[in-house]
Amino acid sequence: MPRYSALDRFTLKAATKAAELLMAPANRREVFDQFVMTVTAVTELSEHMRRITFHAPEFASFAVTGPDEYFGLLMATDRELVMPADDRINVRSSLRAMPEDVRPDLRWYTVRAHRADVAEIDVDFVVHGDAGPGTRWARRAEAGQKAGFRAGGSAYRPPTSGAVLLAADETALPALAAILSTETRPLHVFVEVPDPSFQLDLDATWVFRGSDEPGSAVVKAIQDATLSTVDYAWACGESGLATGVRRHLVKDRDVDRKAIMFSGYWKVGSARM
Ligand SMILES: Cc1cc2nc3c(=O)[nH]c(=O)nc-3n(C[C@H](O)[C@H](O)[C@H](O)COP(=O)(O)OP(=O)(O)OC[C@H]3O[C@@H](n4cnc5c(N)ncnc54)[C@H](O)[C@@H]3O)c2cc1C
Repeated sequence: MPRYSALDRFTLKAATKAAELLMAPANRREVFDQFVMTVTAVTELSEHMRRITFHAPEFASFAVTGPDEYFGLLMATDRELVMPADDRINVRSSLRAMPEDVRPDLRWYTVRAHRADVAEIDVDFVVHGDAGPGTRWARRAEAGQKAGFRAGGSAYRPPTSGAVLLAADETALPALAAILSTETRPLHVFVEVPDPSFQLDLDATWVFRGSDEPGSAVVKAIQDATLSTVDYAWACGESGLATGVRRHLVKDRDVDRKAIMFSGYWKVGSARM
């Protein structure tokens, strides 16, 4: 088990406290497991999404902190994978300490399913051409290939009762599907995707953004919806979607900002390390 410095632990605590002034609390972990995993299967879910199954002995004892568990995927596309040191809480700072020629790329993904009995996870990747290392890696992944796993945490932590609103785009569909598989209460669910070819068999209000700004279609759908109250909201997807949904709920529906979990999973025109 890695031993983190007092400064690292203090920084994490301070960042957690600062985040909780602005948004709903997340599920945090104390230890950020890191290990190498092997691709065991690749399944085409649609023309836009590939499910990649990974095996690692460590998944037998790995515990998710919540349904939308996320992790850092460490990738070395054209060379052997060298893992960063795991003695710092901030994996980005461990990566910065590595020589550039061996440093793996890092992107964040959701654990769509975890099967401890066979030590596997499934990860559903949106493939969007070759624009970044994540999509490039996922498009070419095949059985036997190695990648690194760096544990993250999870964000979905609603109160035990009350009305819950969920808003997602295509990158947050794996997290949304995992949340829906654990929830039993009625939920208000809104999904914005580029066009109907991204739609999955999932009970939600689906809207299509076409060439509009991310978030504009889903914010309009929420504005038009008849919702009595919202006691907790989770809004994840492109940065404009996450912030747009939050702004609408706080300004127009008087929802407490500390009852809203929002996260920009990606940003048009920028890499998301
Ligand atoms: C907590 C968390 C969980 C996530 N879970 C998932 C998941 O399960 N599945 C998943 O597919 N993604 C998920 N994402 C989003 C994913 O990390 C981003 O889409 C990331 O930018 C992909 O990296 P990349 O290397 O492909 O592109 P980057 O190098 O980050 O970006 C390169 C270019 O591609 C664009 N771009 C990035 N993503 C997309 C996209 N989806 N469509 C169109 N253009 C894009 C950027 O705007 C940029 O111009 C998650 C993100 C977070 C923070």
